[in-house]
Amino acid sequence: MTQTTKFSDEIKVAIIANGKYQSRRVAAKLFDVLRDDPDFYLTKRNPDVVISIGGDGMLLSAFHAYERELDHVRFVGIHTGHLGFYTDYLDDEVDKLIDNLRKDKGDRVSYPILNVKLTLADGRSFTSLALNEAALKRHEKTMAAEVFINGVAFESFRGDGLSVSTPTGSTAYNKSLGGAVLHPTIEALQLTEIASLNNRVYRTLGSPIIVPKHEKVTIYPKRVGSYTLSVDNKTYTNRNVDKVEFSIDEHKISFVATPSHTSFWERVRESFIGDVEE
Ligand code: NAP
Ligand code: MN
Repeated sequence: MTQTTKFSDEIKVAIIANGKYQSRRVAAKLFDVLRDDPDFYLTKRNPDVVISIGGDGMLLSAFHAYERELDHVRFVGIHTGHLGFYTDYLDDEVDKLIDNLRKDKGDRVSYPILNVKLTLADGRSFTSLALNEAALKRHEKTMAAEVFINGVAFESFRGDGLSVSTPTGSTAYNKSLGGAVLHPTIEALQLTEIASLNNRVYRTLGSPIIVPKHEKVTIYPKRVGSYTLSVDNKTYTNRNVDKVEFSIDEHKISFVATPSHTSFWERVRESFIGDVEE
C-alpha cells in the first residue's frame, strides 16, 4: 500500500512552452529535473499543475488547453523575456520554482474569468471562456447593437465594436481601449467601446463601465452580416448572431501561490511606466 500513498503524493505536472529558444531551453531543463524526481510525475493529462513557459500570451494558450479542468488545475507562469501579468517566475528561477513546488500545500490564488455565450438566430448557442477579454465586432461596415446591462436596455451602440474584459485582462486590450486598470481581486467585468460613433443621433455613454459579479452584459447586433467574436487569442466568425451574453463564470483560474509574489501594482508600473524615482 505504500506505493499507493506515494503515488497520491506526487504532483502531476504538465509543461507547456512557446517556440522561443529561451523557453524551449527552460522547458528542457524542467523536464530533465522533474522526470527523475519521485515527488513529480510529468503528464499532459489531468495535471495538478500546469507550468507555462513564455509570456502572458503563452499563459492564455495554457489556460485554453486546460479550461475544462479549472476545478483541479493550478497554473504557474515562467516568463522568458519581460515581466508579465500572469507570470511569477523568471527563467533563471527554475530551481526556486521546483523548491516551492516541493513545499507546496496546495495554496492557490484565484481570479475571475469571463463566460461568453453566443446565440444564433436559429437558437443554437456556443459558450466560451475568456481569461483576458471577448470583443464583438462587425466584419464589414459599422456595428449597430442594443446593449443591455442586467436586463436594462442601456444604449444603442454604433461603431467598431465592444469589448468585455476580466480584471486580469484589464491591462491588455481593455487598456488600449481606454479602459481602467482593475485590481484582480475585484470581481467585476469591464465594458469598453471600440471607436463608438457619437453625434446627436447616436449616443452611447462613451466611458468604460465596470459591472459587478452576477450582473450580465448582453449585446444584440441589429444588422444582418457577419460578426467576429475574439476570445483572448482566438477569433470566431458567425452570421445571424442573435445575441452575445457576458458574465463572470462560476469557475476561476487558479495559480500556485508563490511566496515571492510580485504585487500587481509593481507589475503595472514595470510594464507601462518603468522606473520611478524615489
Ligand atoms: P499578441 O498580439 O501576440 O500579444 C499581445 C500582447 O499583449 C503581448 O505583448 C502579451 O504579452 C500582452 N498581454 C497578454 N495578456 C495581457 C494582460 N493580461 N495584461 C497585459 N498584457 C497582456 O497576442 P497574444 O499573445 O495571443 O495575446 C492575445 C491578447 O492580445 C488578447 O487577449 C488581447 O488582450 C491582446 N490584444 C491587444 C490589442 C491591443 O492592445 N490593441 C489588440 C489585439 C489583442 P506577452 O508578450 O507576455 O505574451
Ligand atoms: Mn504574445
